[in-house]
Amino acid sequence: MKLSIIGTGYVGSVTGICFADMGHQICFVDVDQIKLDAINSGKSPIYEPDLDNLLMKNRTKITTTTDIPEAVNQTDLTMICVGTPQKTDGSSDLRFINDAAYSIGKALADKDKKYHTVIVKSTVLPGTTSNVVKPVLERESGKEATVDFGIGANPEFLKEGNAVKDFFHTDRIVIGANDPKTKKTLEGLYKPLHAPIFTTNIKTAEMIKYVSNAFLATKISFSNEIGNLCKVNDIDSYEVFRGVSLDCRINPHFFRSGIGFGGSCFPKDVHALIAFAESQGIDTKILKAVIRTNDDQPQKLIALLKKHLDIRGKKIGILGLSFKPDTDDIRESRAIPVVQALLEEGAQILAYDPMAMPGFKTLFPRISYAKSSKEVLETDALMIITEWKEFFDIDYKGKIVIDGRKVNKARREADIYEGICW
Ligand code: NAD
Repeated sequence: MKLSIIGTGYVGSVTGICFADMGHQICFVDVDQIKLDAINSGKSPIYEPDLDNLLMKNRTKITTTTDIPEAVNQTDLTMICVGTPQKTDGSSDLRFINDAAYSIGKALADKDKKYHTVIVKSTVLPGTTSNVVKPVLERESGKEATVDFGIGANPEFLKEGNAVKDFFHTDRIVIGANDPKTKKTLEGLYKPLHAPIFTTNIKTAEMIKYVSNAFLATKISFSNEIGNLCKVNDIDSYEVFRGVSLDCRINPHFFRSGIGFGGSCFPKDVHALIAFAESQGIDTKILKAVIRTNDDQPQKLIALLKKHLDIRGKKIGILGLSFKPDTDDIRESRAIPVVQALLEEGAQILAYDPMAMPGFKTLFPRISYAKSSKEVLETDALMIITEWKEFFDIDYKGKIVIDGRKVNKARREADIYEGICW
């Protein structure tokens, strides 16, 4: 099949490159020529394990353009993978979705008679595909959805840092389609993956994505709240959750209490769901508490540091800047509030991350950055923010370590050690 992928960020590039590996022809579209240049030179625009190799292997099946009509014209199906960032009131910003839909609609107006399918892969609130995307496509194309072109939603569940594996070995594929032709097209596209496919209507598919993320975020904040209680009672919360999750009704994943969740999805999607509910007069008390608990966690790490050190004028080493290991993504990383708070307390910062320093430098150009994790050891205290593998091999002897991610080697070796929830 010939697919056009609109947006070559974390979702678009992984989706397109993996579909190319399944034998499809891919045309990538982005407004950012730098990302397209990277793809053309055989380098993925984002850091994601295995993605560069897969791109190199499938280069002959991949083209790029900044022109959506050009991409739509030469393909059978378009996946919208643009960002849906958070607005200041917490709601979802649909600017990029609207722009993409407008250009796709214009292209469909001129496209030959061949049936084209438009799929929203970006995370959008229930009703967005049918009430926002579809009317724009119909208006600009002069054609009718499900009669002249297909429309559907296919939310993405990849985890950054594990995205390629997630694509090929996913727990489930969710297909939202209100007409049989779109449903059949999407089911056919994903069939070779032999993954469970859950097909439903568009609005339900959109809701499944938000509920999944809201539930996972809730599980993390719950773990952290319990972890905070464990900490003051000198109990290891990891030990507690090992015991708890032996109950077959309780899934053991995501009980890793720590400094909280970040990234481009959980915070934004929980905020969007809260705003969506509020717009309908529904008060989501649990979800609001999830956000509050998450916002408080970084401050707890600072308080633990203060127990052992007067921060003013001290040099604090930060291990990890990305929101999680194996990604260069710093969006909503817990390192941001930690560094901010340390600067306000008058600390000097020496930070290190194997992948995320270029991005972090754009936010904090004035702090110092180390060339290696070893260099960070030459500071008055260390704070572990992201559990990159290499941080499990550092020599922590003689150090003050405040740990947000449970690096057991630090716990065993450091002179003074504080874990946030253990
Ligand atoms: P991103 O910001 O990394 O990438 C979006 C890309 O779209 C950018 O490269 C941008 O330049 C491009 N773009 C914007 N407007 C465009 C237009 N009109 N035409 C062409 N390109 C355009 O975003 P992302 O992290 O890949 O997320 C995309 C969507 O997928 C979001 O809705 C997000 O919530 C969802 N999602 C993300 C993840 C994740 O782990 N990152 C996982 C699941 C779902």
